[in-house]
Amino acid sequence: MITAEISEIFVSIQGEGLYCGQKQVFVRFAGCNLACAYCDEPAAAKRRPKRCLAPFCERTVSSVAAEVIKLARGSRARAVSLTGGEPLLNREFIKALAPALKKAGLAVHLETNGTLYRELAGLKGISDVIAMDIKLPSSTRGKAFWGEHAKFLAVAPEKTFVKIVVTSKTSVVDLRKAVNISAKARKAIPFFIQPATPKGGVRPPSDKKTDFFYKLAALRLENVRILPQMHKLWGIK
Ligand code: SF4
Repeated sequence: MITAEISEIFVSIQGEGLYCGQKQVFVRFAGCNLACAYCDEPAAAKRRPKRCLAPFCERTVSSVAAEVIKLARGSRARAVSLTGGEPLLNREFIKALAPALKKAGLAVHLETNGTLYRELAGLKGISDVIAMDIKLPSSTRGKAFWGEHAKFLAVAPEKTFVKIVVTSKTSVVDLRKAVNISAKARKAIPFFIQPATPKGGVRPPSDKKTDFFYKLAALRLENVRILPQMHKLWGIK
């Protein structure tokens, strides 16, 4: 039986990227392969303890599908976001879950850190939308994932958009690299510059720096937008 560690399942309003403002059911997988400095879901990013303790629990495909469909019907949500943590760590689970959700009329969105390109390649046609983060070394404690991100973009379907969290420490060199690998994949790819939500020692860039990042990105990309995490501003999950 295929199972996955699920942190939580809930209904909320999408606060990031191309579908900002859309009501969705969120399935938050536990566990992540990265450790970003600005992580806003540190509890979900960690693996659960050996025994099944709240808030993480081992769930079956059928129980997750049933809960998502019930929540979607009750709230009239028409999309489900598979998020985390990093959902692609659960490729086989997603492969089994997505068809059941689509059969119930839900669009399947995958929110990923954009590094697990092999896993994505094994899920062709499974998701309707991919929200891909590009993690900048200045945001991931110095570790670079340029190769992984480029390979991910190469296998990502047409309906993919990119999000880049920028902080006061984001370097111009990093942002330029992110723009270049995105433009190489598709000049028209929606490219969201997401100023970090202030938390702990993490600060968003100044307005001037954010505007500079926008202009830099718009030199090579046709669809650049600046959008902070709206759900944080709205005070919702
Ligand atoms: S990829 Fe996402 S969940 Fe994982 S550590 Fe970074 S921000 Fe947190």
